[in-house]
Amino acid sequence: MPNLAEIEHNPPTYDHGIGLYLHVPFCQTKCPYCDFNTYAGIEDQIAGYARAVNNEIRGWGNLLSHPPVRTIFLGGGTPSYLPVAVLDEIHKTINSSFEVAPTAEVTMECNPGDVTAEKAACWIESGVNRISMGVQSFDDGLLTLLGRRHTAHEAKQAFTVLRDAGFQNQSIDLIYGLPYQTTEQWSRTLEDAVELDPEHISLYSLQIEQGTPLAVDVATGRYPIPDDDLAADMYEDAQARLGNHGFSQYEISNWSKPGMESQHNLIYWLNEPYLGVGPGAHSWLAGQRFANLKSPRRYVTVVGNEYEIVGPDPVETMHTPAGPVDSVEVTTPAIDIAETMMMGMRLNAGVTHERFEKRFGVGSDVIFPEEIGRLLRLNLIEVTGNAILLSERGRLLGNEVFAEFIGNDEK
Ligand code: SF4
Repeated sequence: MPNLAEIEHNPPTYDHGIGLYLHVPFCQTKCPYCDFNTYAGIEDQIAGYARAVNNEIRGWGNLLSHPPVRTIFLGGGTPSYLPVAVLDEIHKTINSSFEVAPTAEVTMECNPGDVTAEKAACWIESGVNRISMGVQSFDDGLLTLLGRRHTAHEAKQAFTVLRDAGFQNQSIDLIYGLPYQTTEQWSRTLEDAVELDPEHISLYSLQIEQGTPLAVDVATGRYPIPDDDLAADMYEDAQARLGNHGFSQYEISNWSKPGMESQHNLIYWLNEPYLGVGPGAHSWLAGQRFANLKSPRRYVTVVGNEYEIVGPDPVETMHTPAGPVDSVEVTTPAIDIAETMMMGMRLNAGVTHERFEKRFGVGSDVIFPEEIGRLLRLNLIEVTGNAILLSERGRLLGNEVFAEFIGNDEK
């Protein structure tokens, strides 16, 4: 068994293309289940944010010598809540700072409550070619429970307005396992989603995040603790129902029509390089993982002032008191191996032997013989001639499988 510390691994370099993530920390209202780095009531920060994020994009473009960008993802937060002029300026800065591929997938997360025909036309004009819409449910009672600022009808209307404006690639996000949610409600929501004929659907099981108002409501008994068995039934219902309507599941939480998989998220799952800009954004670049200043106010104060960005090491240069990067993690071969296994096994195609060996010089069976044997005996994974992947049962117990590949530094 090889010593992982001595493995000479070859993570893909950024000059072969990266995914670019832009974090937008603004929401019109804060949903009670959400613990993302997003805030309501800080609109006075938008102008400063625009200045800072444009500075950061220009800085990275210079430091990395304008590398190719394969995908762009505007997430948050609610990018669709930003004034269209701000979004347009950010797109122009991205295009003048990076080598954006003409075929690049450019996704924007969108709240149905923000959609108008005029805005949709501006988004297309700016270069957005894919929408990821946070619908969450097509049941008005559950939307109220989730604190959403749109109705089911408004979400359907928004989808149609975007389609009519020319968006040919739309994804819908839905949440299951909600307090009081019945399997009938969930089936109806899935049918409503399918009827809109989106290209992509993402399904998330509700997680109760500590510190959120929803966690307090569950802790105090206002809402029942979500039932894991019921959530598993809903997941299986979705697998069958979406399969019957021509969607292929390609990842634990994601389904698409043929060829419409999220190219940006595939970069994460394949553990390829990406750059995150904006407050709290995370990056995996040049063999280093790092995170930006989390507080929007602090980010605006620090990055809002243009400063001379020069230095031999791009990440080190940005990790100074005047730069956006707040922390840099040490990445060892063992961590990269664990990440490659954990992220890759989320995909239905699994981690291919070819890709793993190209990156680490040996097969996963050489590094994890006992772990793989144990998971096979528990019927949680399958090993084929091409890849190692989750079994049907393993997809319901993904976290238990992924835990087997963590913490092997001492090997
Ligand atoms: S709109 Fe999205 S990001 Fe904003 S608070 Fe709600 S769930 Fe969180």
